[in-house]
Amino acid sequence: MLQEALAVWTKIYAINLVRYFLFSGVAYLIFYVFFKERFAHKRIQKKDVDKEKIKAEFKYSITSLMIFAAMGIVIFFGKKVGIFQIYSEFSEHSIAYFFFSVLAAILLHDTYFYWTHRFMHLKWVFPKVHLVHHLSNNPSPWAAFSFHPTEAVIESAILPLMLLFLPMHPIAILTFLIYMTAMNVMGHLGYEMYPKGMLQNPIGRLNNTSVHHNMHHRLVNCNYGLYFNVWDLLMKTNHTKYQEEFERVAASERVEIEPSPVNG
Ligand SMILES: [Zn+2]
Ligand SMILES: [Zn+2]
Repeated sequence: MLQEALAVWTKIYAINLVRYFLFSGVAYLIFYVFFKERFAHKRIQKKDVDKEKIKAEFKYSITSLMIFAAMGIVIFFGKKVGIFQIYSEFSEHSIAYFFFSVLAAILLHDTYFYWTHRFMHLKWVFPKVHLVHHLSNNPSPWAAFSFHPTEAVIESAILPLMLLFLPMHPIAILTFLIYMTAMNVMGHLGYEMYPKGMLQNPIGRLNNTSVHHNMHHRLVNCNYGLYFNVWDLLMKTNHTKYQEEFERVAASERVEIEPSPVNG
């Protein structure tokens, strides 16, 4: 049994690392290495990210993913004894249900994240649990899983909790995890790629942006949401300057520098 648990853990940890390197690594290469100048006008905080902070983000993230993989063992054995609602045959539910389960997982996670995040910002919880994530006041994509081990447990607990009552196919779980990683990396990107005016649209404003989470890292007690802005709107926890800050970055234009004419 121990050997089986170790094999499951290794496999899930490998998948987690691939997800992390693929999304955070590619985003880092595009925005921080190859096209840094090309996207300079979309940078949210103009100063460069401290290299030492990137190292810390990386170290904490790969450790957190070990804990995420350990949660995978809980799910694996829990499924064996029938605690979790994972179905392996597509025919067990309709294709419409498959898509519904992914959407439901995203909405449930959004609510879970908002409220556990508010909890972690309580004065007596913050230094012990959430401060590590806030060491990145100008986050890079490598900060996506930069958590204290206790926070990693809280963040990864959503999946087993959901699977207690929401039947999901393994491919639906994987789709949800890929979406989660992509959105998480976007929140820590340090660049805003959404179009200007998006927050003036009643549907567009429900979507969270990179500026939204970047402000959370810089200003701390505001903008707690994950995928959507619904909870921040309902609880009035958006920063008063959020829309203004988004527009400032999203509307900034790239300045083309003309090559100087050759004299003589
Ligand atoms: Zn926070
Ligand atoms: Zn963050």
